[in-house]
Amino acid sequence: MYSQELLKMINNNLKQHKFENLRTTKLFELDLKLWVLGNAVVMFQRMHEEFVRRNDPQSYLEEMKPQYFYTFINMFETRNECQRRAKQFCMVLTPAILDHINRCLGKEIVDDILQKTGPQKFKSRKILQQEVLNKLLIDGSSEKYAEYINSYEDFMKRWISQDLTEHYKCQNTIHVLQTSILQSLLRKIKQALQDEKTLQAKTIYDFLAEFCNVLKKELVISQNSTKVVLFENNLSTIQQFAHEIEWHLSDLEKLVEQDIKSRNIETIFLHSTLKPQDELFRKVIGCDKQCPFCKAPCEAGGWNHKEHFATVHRPRGLSQHVNENTKALDHSICSSNIISNKAFRNAEGKPHPYKDYQKYYPDWAIHPDTTADSSDYWKFVFIQFNHLFAKLYNANPANLPEDWHKLTREKALKSLNKTQ
Ligand SMILES: [Zn+2]
Ligand SMILES: [Zn+2]
Repeated sequence: MYSQELLKMINNNLKQHKFENLRTTKLFELDLKLWVLGNAVVMFQRMHEEFVRRNDPQSYLEEMKPQYFYTFINMFETRNECQRRAKQFCMVLTPAILDHINRCLGKEIVDDILQKTGPQKFKSRKILQQEVLNKLLIDGSSEKYAEYINSYEDFMKRWISQDLTEHYKCQNTIHVLQTSILQSLLRKIKQALQDEKTLQAKTIYDFLAEFCNVLKKELVISQNSTKVVLFENNLSTIQQFAHEIEWHLSDLEKLVEQDIKSRNIETIFLHSTLKPQDELFRKVIGCDKQCPFCKAPCEAGGWNHKEHFATVHRPRGLSQHVNENTKALDHSICSSNIISNKAFRNAEGKPHPYKDYQKYYPDWAIHPDTTADSSDYWKFVFIQFNHLFAKLYNANPANLPEDWHKLTREKALKSLNKTQ
């Protein structure tokens, strides 16, 4: 094709006026054409080779290599930045997740204990009291009795806390509760990351703000801690960022699980925001009021009652009351006192007849004792620890009635099972 073009050019030039005068022969024209074409062939070959080289895909790619490499590095760096920031954000999430577990654990423990298959002793206030009083009699410590009587609420909460510690040490189920809180939270985090509104954010800042807003009930994340995660972004990086966070969640899960498993029960209870012992005291025992005379705990269920009452009152000396004349511990019992002619002193120190006690303690209803043996447990305790209590309370021992000495441990426990 190129040769024909060249021959046409030679012919055209030979026809020009200045060449016609040369009177060239056909042979000369042939020689000229052969010479021109002979020289042109080498150049045509070079041109052809250059064309083939340029259009060869391999050499083309070779030439473009630096550009492609630059594009790749660019993409990789964006991804790398995204990954780095996502990992950083997961580090911000970790303490917030642990905090969430600590905040939820107390309620989970209470639900776990109070469920149908939970320990029998927490089924009712009566059963729990029997359990504690049984244990106190077995332990046989006057100090523990004094604590139970005089600091009832604190004692009970401590007792419940110790009992829960033992329960979870034996059952080894505390980590099951923690893991179930963690799993449920991770599900919510994943939902928030896939949330349309969250993904529609135009900047990473808006994305994180929306993410924190969706999970505001579960996670407490300070704005300052999310600032370190911010980086330059475009719309596609937000989806990628969300995807990277989700990807890193499995590492985070392992870290949190390790942290959970490294703590012993005591530390777990210490970090729990809602103390299960406080909640169980409120739910199982209810009212924390004690008889103004003998400190017997109120037995009316729940919190909403106008009058507090106890079916079993105790000899007053057990709660440090001393006879003014003899300086001996007082062994009188409220349920008998209120139908006697005896007097008591209220907080101001003035004497009043027991019969009028409701004028001074209108929210307490003390019923006269109708069963002779209802306080047998406490009479037995008094007999057992009379001297120890006297020493503890810095008083003289009570002069206890003769028939109290006939009480046995069995009788005491029997009265407990009957009345408490
Ligand atoms: Zn009382
Ligand atoms: Zn009450």
